[in-house]
Amino acid sequence: PSSSHAQLSTATKAAASLKTKGPKPQSGEFESWSPSSWTTKPIKQDAVYEDSKKVEKSLAKLERLPPIVTPAEIVALKEHLRDVALGKAFLLQGGDCAELFDYCEENAIESKIKLLLQMSLVLIWGANKPIVRIARMAGQYAKPRSSPTEIVDGKETPSFRGDILNGFPLEERPLDPARLVDAYFHSASTLNYIRASISSGLADLHRPLDWGLGHVRDPDLQRKYSKTVESITDSLNFMRTVGADTASKALETVELYTSHEGLLLEYEQSLTRFLRDPARASSTATPEHRSWYDTSAHFLWVGDRTRQIDGAHIEFFRGIENPIGVKIGPTTSSTDLLAILRTLNPSVEIGKITLITRYGASKVRTLLPEHIRTVEDSEYARSVVWQCDPMHGNTRSTSNGVKTRQFSDILSELQETMSVHKEQGSYLGGVHLELTGEAVTECTGGSEGLGEDDLSLNYTTYCDPRLNEKQALELAFLIAGHLRA
Ligand code: PEP
Ligand code: MN
Repeated sequence: PSSSHAQLSTATKAAASLKTKGPKPQSGEFESWSPSSWTTKPIKQDAVYEDSKKVEKSLAKLERLPPIVTPAEIVALKEHLRDVALGKAFLLQGGDCAELFDYCEENAIESKIKLLLQMSLVLIWGANKPIVRIARMAGQYAKPRSSPTEIVDGKETPSFRGDILNGFPLEERPLDPARLVDAYFHSASTLNYIRASISSGLADLHRPLDWGLGHVRDPDLQRKYSKTVESITDSLNFMRTVGADTASKALETVELYTSHEGLLLEYEQSLTRFLRDPARASSTATPEHRSWYDTSAHFLWVGDRTRQIDGAHIEFFRGIENPIGVKIGPTTSSTDLLAILRTLNPSVEIGKITLITRYGASKVRTLLPEHIRTVEDSEYARSVVWQCDPMHGNTRSTSNGVKTRQFSDILSELQETMSVHKEQGSYLGGVHLELTGEAVTECTGGSEGLGEDDLSLNYTTYCDPRLNEKQALELAFLIAGHLRA
């Protein structure tokens, strides 16, 4: 696929020609923005479809369908992220690297929600603060790839780019525009089941939780984790005894927001709507005021490969009201970092931008301090959420060519990140993890003691290696321990 804008891709042309309901772009002090203004910019990782008629049909269908999430929910999350930026709450974000349409299934959804809920309880205990929960779920279907093709059985084959673009089986590798609409329905079904499960008591803390610590063989760790569980259980029992739970309903339900990488802009544009702002405490917006909301998810992020300051993705993201994540890493210059903040958040809204840092365990100490100083010595001081993604800088291949990550590297990047923030006087507001509720064997290490030889036992990811349920929970215990210390 071309990454120049001299030639617009088929889908981009279809997107540019869509009639989007809303005000005409205003030209004024700033360059005018519209949901399709990104189509005039250079784009990375773009989708080049064979059949533009089919793309237009899919996009027109998407434009008619109702929002998946609403402005009231998006704004509620923004209020929570404001608290995170101000150091009053902590953010847990996690889920699959590539979410398949097949994961839209009762057990896979439930096990991930339960895991995120348990992790968040441990983190509440550790941080002594409310936890904001965002799932990488119900829409994480588009993947940036380092190469558009790969060699399979000696043949050059299009890479798998996520279920919204193509399928993993070799015969499904050509891009299929019908998948744009399939993505909407899988996203809506997944979120429907999340909402239904939570409102039916899946997250009801009156029920005992299964902490499954049996695999922890190290007696010191076993004792430490068990003490944490005891402490959490005691607190819950106390609340029940004094009736605090029935008064507030706080133990019966939780808020869980959805997120994905905003990579396929044709899809994001089609779900971006000009909607009435809900009334909110920290804003002067009147209820009659309208803004552009990307209603495909509550939170969207820009990936490490698509955050070019003059590129299509940053152009799209600067116009939407949603909270936005930006991945930053070893290739992010301080100049670009500041330019990205000024483009995406010119009014310096607190909590609008989450900087998702991912350097790798061996680089974080050298690179993070300069990024922190760049932001905290600017007009953005104390207004961003600093979030650590200890996964993406720590991917490596075994001697057999299996993509994996070592638990100790993940933990080490997290620990280094925490201590750098402490030294710099900034607040580490959250973590961003790739995890699953299933007993997969994709990352090595952790208390189960998974080695490289064990990776083949249950290696099921179609993209990056994820923490399994035990590893994810263990990481939550370790983070909690550090936060408390
Ligand atoms: C991801 O989060 O799955 C991803 C591709 O990350 P990054 O953009 O940081 O490489
Ligand atoms: Mn990934």
